Amino acid sequence: GPPTTPADTASPDSHLANNYHPLPVVLTSGEGAWVEDSTGRRYLDLLSGYSALNFGHRHPALVAAARAQLDRLTLVSRAFDHELLAPFADGLAALVGPLLAAPDGVLVLPMNTGAEAVETAIKTVRKWGYEVKGVPADSATIVVAADNFHGRTTTIVSFSTDDDARSGFGPFTPGFRVVPFGDADAIAAAIDETTVAVLLEPVQGEAGVVVPPDDYLPAVRALCDANDVLLVADEIQSGLGRTGTTLACERVGVRPDLVTLGKALGGGVVPVSAVVGRRDVLAVLTPGTHGSTFGGNPLACAVGLAVVELLRTGEHQERAARLGAHLGRRLDAMVSEGLLVTARTVGLWAGVDVDPARGTGRQVSERLLERGVLVKDTHGQTVRIAPPLVITQQDLDHALDELAEVLRDA
Ligand code: PLP
Repeated sequence: GPPTTPADTASPDSHLANNYHPLPVVLTSGEGAWVEDSTGRRYLDLLSGYSALNFGHRHPALVAAARAQLDRLTLVSRAFDHELLAPFADGLAALVGPLLAAPDGVLVLPMNTGAEAVETAIKTVRKWGYEVKGVPADSATIVVAADNFHGRTTTIVSFSTDDDARSGFGPFTPGFRVVPFGDADAIAAAIDETTVAVLLEPVQGEAGVVVPPDDYLPAVRALCDANDVLLVADEIQSGLGRTGTTLACERVGVRPDLVTLGKALGGGVVPVSAVVGRRDVLAVLTPGTHGSTFGGNPLACAVGLAVVELLRTGEHQERAARLGAHLGRRLDAMVSEGLLVTARTVGLWAGVDVDPARGTGRQVSERLLERGVLVKDTHGQTVRIAPPLVITQQDLDHALDELAEVLRDA
């Protein structure tokens, strides 16, 4: 029968490569904020597939859209058009276009994974730099932030500051300048005539939900405007409702030139990502210069369109803001009680730092698992909390009660 314990990648009998360290649970079904394991135990999911499951597991509208499309057409490749490609681009442009610095409208370039969307953005801003800004061939630079996470490709890990992500994977792609996150003066100092873009996460997710000072992104926007540099916001984890607005950039009133979206864009059903950005910038891509066999496939577009539809009313964003305020109050109370060292909350998204005396982030995650709550540690002492936006306040409170108990008992 199917396994009830996770694959032991240390065993010589295992055929699974060892690139993750999962918690010891084998999940078999899910609905909304809840999942069930192979022994029939239920858990509240407070990770949401790193925010791919913003609408919960198997949201009825997303499953219905996928089912209907499975019975019609799943893949054509971009060698041919299909009936959902333009509607998906139109829908995403209508949702996100007004949030960008794009008075002349936006273009949408569909891809599959987050890393592919980031790679697409990097290629686009480089080509824009050469063809429009007039940067000398092969000398474009992009300013990025320390402690970033933008994906796992060789070019993207080239500007990671995480040794685990980089070590052993060189030689690296040149053309990136790394500056401290949250420091606009450092960006000013890094920009010169070769600079084509600043690429940032508006809130650094993998780093532990690190929220920069409120005047940071507006200052970066002003620097980009003054120096003819594009602002690229990687909203793959922060975007699509998580922070209480459609884009995290909205929170501080900043309009990027380009945005990368992923994760929740596929509703946790299929991988869907995209670059949405200024029409004149994405127009540097012409037939043959960039592509993907699966990008914008009919199944992806059907689900992506249904996701856009869910976000169009603002109801999920509003819910994230409201439940997020509650989450923030409860976590701050745990800090006051001495149960947590720090809690950073933005929308329905938090990074909490655990006192080493109460255990590591991993140990807290393991103890919560035993109590039927799923979270995951990041960077040693930090635990990330990102419930599905559809979670009830009662379920959220239950999970937070369990977190407080686990910390009190430690
Ligand atoms: N960008 C950000 C901000 C992310 O958080 C992630 C994934 O965690 C990625 C890019 C990479 O996405 P993917 O794993 O789909 O390649």
